[in-house]
Amino acid sequence: MKPFIYDYSLEDLQAWVQENNEPAFRAGQIFDWLYVKRVSSFEEMTNLSKGLRAKLNDQFSFVTLSEITKLQSKDGTVKFLFGLHDDHAIETVIMRHNYGNSICVTTQVGCRIGCTFCASTLGGLKRNLTAGEIVAQVVQAQKILDETNERVSSIVIMGSGEPFENYEATMKFLRIMIHEKGLNIGQRHITVSTSGIVPNIYKFADEETQINLAISIHAPNDKLRSKLMPVNRRFPFDDVMKSLHYYMEKTGRRITFEYALIGGVNDRPEHAEELANVLKDMMCHVNLIPVNYVPERNYVRTPRKDIFEFQRILADKGVNVTIRREQGHDIAAACGQLRAKHMESTAR
Ligand code: SF4
Repeated sequence: MKPFIYDYSLEDLQAWVQENNEPAFRAGQIFDWLYVKRVSSFEEMTNLSKGLRAKLNDQFSFVTLSEITKLQSKDGTVKFLFGLHDDHAIETVIMRHNYGNSICVTTQVGCRIGCTFCASTLGGLKRNLTAGEIVAQVVQAQKILDETNERVSSIVIMGSGEPFENYEATMKFLRIMIHEKGLNIGQRHITVSTSGIVPNIYKFADEETQINLAISIHAPNDKLRSKLMPVNRRFPFDDVMKSLHYYMEKTGRRITFEYALIGGVNDRPEHAEELANVLKDMMCHVNLIPVNYVPERNYVRTPRKDIFEFQRILADKGVNVTIRREQGHDIAAACGQLRAKHMESTAR
């Protein structure tokens, strides 16, 4: 199979045109056709010679994301289930906020992390996406937004998969997204969310980007976190916290903690107290997420009054905390639910 053109950063394209004895400026032209003009074929790159277009066509392919399902929420959220060339399916979400349009992208087909509240992990990991397959999700979303003269203003890497288990592809995707000659998404408008793959938290800190880091923490201590997230047995709670302190010192950036509240499991006042103690010296923000009901798991939602109480305890102890506004609730927008339904129906 030919490599995807979206797998190539501008620097990769520069190397490719040099190897192919083309003038250096051709790389910039190709990049511009891909990310500014957003064409879907080499044929449309009309300021390139016919010979170069034919060569590109011989050596590369475009990622094709076929729309299997498109669900539109009352709040403007649009959720897509896209088919890949090998019949796998991935989810991408466009979220509308009053400050712009945010895209939630997927980095792996399925996930092997095994968080007990998540539908994405039910069938395990099928494969990593290439950088280009992640890029294609944003380009496709941008093309949809082009119809109404809107733009992708922020990206969250919070779809299916663990981005730090597909680290190189994720980093290349990010480099393509932030390039000023391409989509030029502001680094501070991008958030990568990890379940706590410790070695790559250190690596990410050393990249010295301005990209935001979020951690799915979901418990205030090692024991409970291991129950909810088996990855905690590989990378224990204290090691995750140590790596986050390193990240904060190295980058001077604030960390976001994602905390999915599960009724009767991790949502009691004592959990809030314990969490506040762990986070008290950290430059951070806590995002409380009322857990979505996943039929395969036996979790119930935390009652509203208990969510507010959890928030109050954290806030009283000086922790910066918000409750995540739920988007696309009416269209099963929680990570992996659409794909899980699709897998079920195609297996029948
Ligand atoms: S929450 Fe994220 S890391 Fe955990 S199983 Fe789901 S997709 Fe994987």
